[in-house]
Amino acid sequence: MTMQTKIVSIEQGLDEAAELIKNGDIVVFPTETVYGLGANAFDGNAVRKIFEAKGRPMDNPLIAHIADISWIDKLAVDVSDSAKAVIKAFMPGPITVILKRSKAVPDEVTAGLDTVGIRFPKHNVARQFIKACGVPLAAPSANTSTKISPTSAQHVFEDMKGRIPLILQGGECEVGIESTIVDMTVDVPTILRPGAITADMLVKVLDKVKNFDGNIIVAKAPGMKYKHYAPSCEMVVASSEDKAIFEYGRQVGLQHNPVIIAKNDYVPDQILLNSIRLNVIRLGATDEEAMRNIYAAMHEAQDKYDYIICQDFGDEGLGASIMNRINKASGGKRI
Ligand code: AMP
Ligand code: MG
Repeated sequence: MTMQTKIVSIEQGLDEAAELIKNGDIVVFPTETVYGLGANAFDGNAVRKIFEAKGRPMDNPLIAHIADISWIDKLAVDVSDSAKAVIKAFMPGPITVILKRSKAVPDEVTAGLDTVGIRFPKHNVARQFIKACGVPLAAPSANTSTKISPTSAQHVFEDMKGRIPLILQGGECEVGIESTIVDMTVDVPTILRPGAITADMLVKVLDKVKNFDGNIIVAKAPGMKYKHYAPSCEMVVASSEDKAIFEYGRQVGLQHNPVIIAKNDYVPDQILLNSIRLNVIRLGATDEEAMRNIYAAMHEAQDKYDYIICQDFGDEGLGASIMNRINKASGGKRI
């Protein structure tokens, strides 16, 4: 079965194109990387039409294209702080982040994986179109399977005429190759497909990136790039347990709501003298556990309390590594 394929400008064709998507059909749209063949990412049957038109095997996942950062919440869960940093730095732009999928995303999009690729294109026509559709668009490149990716409406037309109803015209793609894909669901963020956003660029907002060639690239000055390193309330390091408890009492006297962050055996739950209950966030028994839990403890502390007193972990081994972060967070303040 063939159909008439037309090429239209966004001025002429926006409403018709968005209407096609709403009716579960497919539409080709331009992006800054290559042209994409899109369908409503929440509609498994619509997404199937992409695979039919491309002759693409169903086990190859598609990328969900969004028109606003906030849409990520509909597609993904458990978005890590480092993923958020990548999103903030590079979206909209030629990058796809792999995140843990939400239940709303059908298997047709993810090829049954528990992850989803998400991209926020910068191209004006893409953004207007996706916004008008009101839903994320699942899209691979708009070429038949194994053919070259299209970077102009004419490329798409030559390859796919008769298989698709409509191509939105958007000129020649500025970037010209597919987006960088970075998997943010693994311990070391990993580039699955290289593109215009390089490992050197990614490492400006991440501590480490595993490059496409398997090499791990480490930030030159890890930690320097986090502007909001410190908790939002005051934090001091106590040089001894006695000093920590004395400072705690002093802060209570000043009508503050302090907390002590320390390893398990550092302070008791109660000060026996006047039987006040101490607010304590316990980091675990070992330095290794303390390292694992220190940032979560700072998050919890700034949310619930207004003054943080932190144990001194010394200047050796893991203790020194933990203190490196604590000294930044406390601005070097000691008691
Ligand atoms: P295309 O840009 O035409 O190659 O189509 C999208 C590409 O995105 C696929 O070929 C995959 O390589 C990649 N992709 C999409 N979703 C995922 C995912 N969840 N995990 C890994 N790769 C993905
Ligand atoms: Mg492709």
